[in-house]
Amino acid sequence: MENINILIVEDEQRLADILKMQLEESGFNAKIAYDGYTGKQLVEKNKYNLIILDINLPLINGYDLCKEIRKTNSNIPIIMLTAFGMPDNKLTGFDAGADDYIVKPFDFRELLARINVFLRRSDANLETTDKIGIADLEMDLNTKTVTRSNKKIELTAKESLLLETFLKNKDKLLTRELIIEKVWGIDFDPNTNIIDVYVNYLRKKIDKDFKPKLIHTKFGFGFYCSEKEI
Ligand code: CA
Repeated sequence: MENINILIVEDEQRLADILKMQLEESGFNAKIAYDGYTGKQLVEKNKYNLIILDINLPLINGYDLCKEIRKTNSNIPIIMLTAFGMPDNKLTGFDAGADDYIVKPFDFRELLARINVFLRRSDANLETTDKIGIADLEMDLNTKTVTRSNKKIELTAKESLLLETFLKNKDKLLTRELIIEKVWGIDFDPNTNIIDVYVNYLRKKIDKDFKPKLIHTKFGFGFYCSEKEI
């Protein structure tokens, strides 16, 4: 996933920090504003793909900030985050221009699923279809949708980026260093076993129930994606 920037506007520092960490682990860039005014300034200065917005905030509350953002940007997905679960609050949020609403405490996976729906939708609006694949596996580069034998396969952001790296380098041996750089960034230690862990996750999803196997290990060198063993 290329540089998806998410802004978190949330004054509960612990929650904001955890959320930032979880989003980054899912492959996004995340930035926090701990009050509404800072949030407003950041939105004016930077380009974000999605905003997660709390309602009770210092300086400018979430409803007002949402209305403010909508004056200049009608497309950016805004997910409101709040401790209030009453229907009235939801309606006020939607009136202010929010696209979705999630009640605290929430399961991060639920938030992530909603984020992905919005990002897929805005991607689909902006770009035309662009697909890569091998054998009966196909990946849509815009929506990151993956199918094998026409069956949809759900991948996490990192798994998806790993698969994309393999598909863009078909029949080529990829070193661990190269994979780390493409998927985790250059600051990551290439000696970690994270690649093996993620290659196994990916294999379970795209290879376990299918033939031919597409992801191969070359011991001592790295990995490659091919319809046959090189
Ligand atoms: Ca709050």
